Amino acid sequence: MTYSTYDITIIGGGPVGIFAGLYAGLRDAKFQIIESLSELGGQVNALYPEKTLLDIPGQAAIKGRNLVSNLQSQLDTMNGDIKLNETVTDVVKDENMFNITTNKGNSKSKAIIIAVGNGAFNPRKLMADGADDFEGKQLVYTAKDIQQFKDKTVLVAGGGDSAIDQALMLEKTAKKVYLLHRRNEFRGLEHMVDLLKKSSVELITPYLIKQLKAADNDQVTVVAKKMKTDDDFKNINVDKILVNYGFISNNKDMEGWNLDLEKDHHVTKVNPTLETNIHNIYSVGDQAKYNGKQTIIATGFGEVPIAVNAIMNDLYPDNHTPIHSTQLTNN
Ligand SMILES: Cc1cc2nc3c(=O)[nH]c(=O)nc-3n(C[C@H](O)[C@H](O)[C@H](O)COP(=O)(O)OP(=O)(O)OC[C@H]3O[C@@H](n4cnc5c(N)ncnc54)[C@H](O)[C@@H]3O)c2cc1C
Repeated sequence: MTYSTYDITIIGGGPVGIFAGLYAGLRDAKFQIIESLSELGGQVNALYPEKTLLDIPGQAAIKGRNLVSNLQSQLDTMNGDIKLNETVTDVVKDENMFNITTNKGNSKSKAIIIAVGNGAFNPRKLMADGADDFEGKQLVYTAKDIQQFKDKTVLVAGGGDSAIDQALMLEKTAKKVYLLHRRNEFRGLEHMVDLLKKSSVELITPYLIKQLKAADNDQVTVVAKKMKTDDDFKNINVDKILVNYGFISNNKDMEGWNLDLEKDHHVTKVNPTLETNIHNIYSVGDQAKYNGKQTIIATGFGEVPIAVNAIMNDLYPDNHTPIHSTQLTNN
């Protein structure tokens, strides 16, 4: 059987994987992106499409979904193979080539860029009596469709960046927003905490949700207990509860690969050119680990040209390495 052979295979089609495809295309590499979800966009698309991102260079403020759609439009100008609904289940090194197996077939690649983020992710669940009865209805874990909160009374639970972002985002759409957290202090960017304090979001701290009970008009009564007390309870009636206790990710698929990749707490260690301990396997974005690494999109974008150019230098040493993608003069 003959398999397609690529210069570069990008595993994972999150924002960083998409940009890796674009940059591989700019270098005329024959590339494929393999993404296990049905759409590109990774965490941005799956977890916070409605969030306004403030730390994307060149964008004063951009919604998650618009960032993904801009990246997709850029990628569409290139001729790579984009394989969706396809999960890489194994990678095997065979002399100067890698054999890649997915749930749908096989291909070969001279180099690999791992851009799997933290792997498949799931929200950390609310552990409160009755929570199961409301899950997927009044109780949700992502704010994918903001219209579901329109003119509703919403309680956001959590104390990190994304809980604050979501509370501020919903303030514009919902009738009333509560933010409940088990501590008095929030773990968000100072700027966002300032915005929160000036907003109309009502803070309920330090409280922990103990129980959810059905109330009239399809509402839910959130029973919350004040921390370090035995009998100081508060009942809040709401239409929707948006829990943001973070995500538990799993890289089980990757752990099955036939590669001896050096890891640090489930992320792949890389050198300054983003190469792993295996020659011509690179890692970028949230899955790449080095001293001082920050897992944000801007960091991942910056890693991509370093990795792609290092690969192209290795595969085609006689080719000229570009510094800019455009030229300033016509000569
Ligand atoms: C709630 C929240 C808010 C955030 N806010 C910001 C922000 O404001 N600014 C910012 O810069 N960053 C933010 N981040 C972080 C940002 O989302 C990540 O840094 C970014 O998504 C990393 O991109 P990535 O492409 O490396 O990985 P991901 O976005 O995780 O994408 C990885 C992709 O790989 C796919 N994949 C995994 N395993 C396989 C496999 N075996 N085969 C095929 N495909 C696979 C996954 O399905 C996924 O689509 C936020 C994160 C969260 C959770």
